Amino acid sequence: MHAEPRIWSYAATLLGSPILLKLFHDDPAVARRTFRLIKQLENLLTVNRTPSQVMDINLAAGRHPVTVSAPVFALIARAQAASLRPDSLFNFAIGPLVKRWKIGFRGDSVPPAAEIAALLPLTDPQRVVLDAASHTVWLPQAGMALDLGAIAKGYIADRVRDDLRQQQVDRALINLGGNVHTLGAGSDAGWSIGLKTPFAGPETLIGALQVRDRSVVTSGIYERWFEQDGRLWHHILDPKTGYPLDNELLSVTVISADSIDGDIWTTLLYGMGVERGLAALAQEPALEAIFVTRDRRVIPSSQRHYTFTLLDDSWQWLPVGY
Ligand code: FAD
Ligand code: MG
Repeated sequence: MHAEPRIWSYAATLLGSPILLKLFHDDPAVARRTFRLIKQLENLLTVNRTPSQVMDINLAAGRHPVTVSAPVFALIARAQAASLRPDSLFNFAIGPLVKRWKIGFRGDSVPPAAEIAALLPLTDPQRVVLDAASHTVWLPQAGMALDLGAIAKGYIADRVRDDLRQQQVDRALINLGGNVHTLGAGSDAGWSIGLKTPFAGPETLIGALQVRDRSVVTSGIYERWFEQDGRLWHHILDPKTGYPLDNELLSVTVISADSIDGDIWTTLLYGMGVERGLAALAQEPALEAIFVTRDRRVIPSSQRHYTFTLLDDSWQWLPVGY
């Protein structure tokens, strides 16, 4: 039998989320540098306080275009491209609705229908003007606001991976709260990443994925929600209606080389549902997904870059369609 290699874990709270870094040697300096990088990127991208480049854009809505740095512009361009896909659930201009619902923040409540109807026209992603030559972003109407909550953690996870590699760290795991990125393998089998049981305790798992050098991103309706009028209201909003999107899904997990793709696609696939999602993934050989449904099915699109162990057989693992 192999002795399990020793792992050192470092924790912080950033991005409004619990952050965990795992290393194979005790290196507080690497951990400090990693958390500092995440904090710097949070300070560029947050929409929850000033100053940040994205807040500058939002505060200038209806007044003037704002010049942002090249990486922030590139991220916003990716977010707009995802938002403009046909029938996309992803909408980077959803800020006014996210701010009004406040789901996951203090003061969350179901807004009056008339308020939602009034905010919807402010969330049209086509109206956001990007100028690639000058790196400017322009929200033409007061009240419009970007929200990068569905893509920024993926971007940040990739930046952390790149920075760790630059420091010659070749085996590590970073968890940004739902966005996990891995370097190398944690053991002979790879890094083991839990697939959480929705609406159960944090340690309760449907199963575990084993991966190496992959990102594993999960979007679920069970992480940020509140109850009102006997209903559960979660944080993935349908840009067509302005209300949380309810379909057959509890969560979607995407396994990919880059975490930014995983973050974009968890949201896109959440909107597509199982059937359309599997069809879309058939055209995306670099991406794999696991859908978790309300009727306790766990459906992988394919299994090229990970193995899966079912830990709770009250869920059905259904590797169909490939
Ligand atoms: P995903 O499922 O990938 O995306 C859901 C999030 O995207 C929602 O929370 C909302 O922000 C937004 N969204 C909702 N519907 C859509 C849609 N249709 N299209 C596109 N986007 C949508 N949390 C705190 O509690 N306090 C903080 O101070 C805080 N600061 C943050 C700063 C940064 C830079 C980032 C990236 C996140 C921060 N967060 C904070 C967390 C943030 O509010 C979101 O909850 C988080 O990013 C959701 O990540 P996810 O992977 O679970 O969500
Ligand atoms: Mg996402």
